[in-house]
Amino acid sequence: MESILVLTHTDETADLTRASLETVTAGLALAARLAAPLAIGIVAADAASAANSLASTGARLLAVTGPAFAQPRYASDAAACEALCRAAQATIVLAPASSRFARVAAGVAHRLGGVIDTHITAIAVPEAVEATRWFYRQRIEAVLSRDTRPWFLLLDAGTQAAFAAAPAPAQAEQIAVDLPALRTTVTGLKAPRHDAQTIRPDARLLFVAGAGWTKKQPDGQVHAAEASDLILGFLRLSGASLGSSKSLVDQGSESQPVLPFLTHLNQVGQTGATPRHPKGLSTCCHGEEPHVVGWRFIGERRAISLDPNCGWTRGKADVVYIADAFQVIDKLNALLASANPTA
Ligand SMILES: Cc1cc2nc3c(=O)[nH]c(=O)nc-3n(C[C@H](O)[C@H](O)[C@H](O)COP(=O)(O)OP(=O)(O)OC[C@H]3O[C@@H](n4cnc5c(N)ncnc54)[C@H](O)[C@@H]3O)c2cc1C
Repeated sequence: MESILVLTHTDETADLTRASLETVTAGLALAARLAAPLAIGIVAADAASAANSLASTGARLLAVTGPAFAQPRYASDAAACEALCRAAQATIVLAPASSRFARVAAGVAHRLGGVIDTHITAIAVPEAVEATRWFYRQRIEAVLSRDTRPWFLLLDAGTQAAFAAAPAPAQAEQIAVDLPALRTTVTGLKAPRHDAQTIRPDARLLFVAGAGWTKKQPDGQVHAAEASDLILGFLRLSGASLGSSKSLVDQGSESQPVLPFLTHLNQVGQTGATPRHPKGLSTCCHGEEPHVVGWRFIGERRAISLDPNCGWTRGKADVVYIADAFQVIDKLNALLASANPTA
């Protein structure tokens, strides 16, 4: 009989990360489907609040806690996950593909003599347990099953609903960890300013900037500085995540006007990212196939383009505004600012 363990962790706050809570949802569904016991392991400085938030799951709660587990570090995180796996005696281990766990999960699977699959987007049990992931830039969807146990599955964020329930008092079993000598001391976190960090995987909206923003406009001039202000203003006011077309991010190496906050990490498409957001708004982008293939997991698609024959109008978007994006975003920013004057 299978036994399921969900590995979770906190971040800077005492609460479990959203990706951890999504993995809890997957664990609950899998345990129910298999009628298998479920344990949830928590890695945190202090797991009290996290355990309370999981009380209603009815799962066995295990925790590795202490100052050493407040921050990500390979040696302590791997030791914590290994101890939780050994305590739970799990045959299937689900973990969020957070930077913290993605770094250690393969090592932990190896220590336990198990196997691991990553980028899992769904788990089903038609007969045996089957995990789904995409290959070749999200073009081929594969369904995997394995006999080897323990089987570690690293779940991509954004693929499950986050578990949410009213907290109730709960006590997690403390699992002792033999920490190896720690060579890495975490002295603090250096993160970009909120408005400098333009890639926001949890955002409800993906805002895509295309090359049109830096092209000559109807007045014969380029308005790159104005484009920067409009785009950054929209991101600040809406909290959207910023994506880009390849043409726009490539321009930096071609001595053309650039938007300084864009890098190749923002690129969406065949040779870029395939982000997951409920909605997407494309601006000044032609909507060619190598770009739009990166929109596979965007729920509702809208585009603003001057070109009535762009790819978006040819069935690739739900709604297309044939309009000047400079004017539309300017107006949108004014509306958003008046709706939320403190933003
Ligand atoms: C092997 C391969 C891989 C590729 N991979 C990717 C990829 O991963 N991602 C990607 O994006 N591309 C990729 N491409 C490139 C892709 O084919 C397109 O060339 C690219 O997406 C075009 O970018 P764009 O639409 O921003 O620019 P353009 O084609 O220059 O389109 C700009 C658009 O902006 C509009 N516009 C201009 N001004 C305004 C305004 N004021 N208001 C509204 N609209 C305006 C114009 O009408 C035009 O439609 C790939 C190509 C190849 C061959």
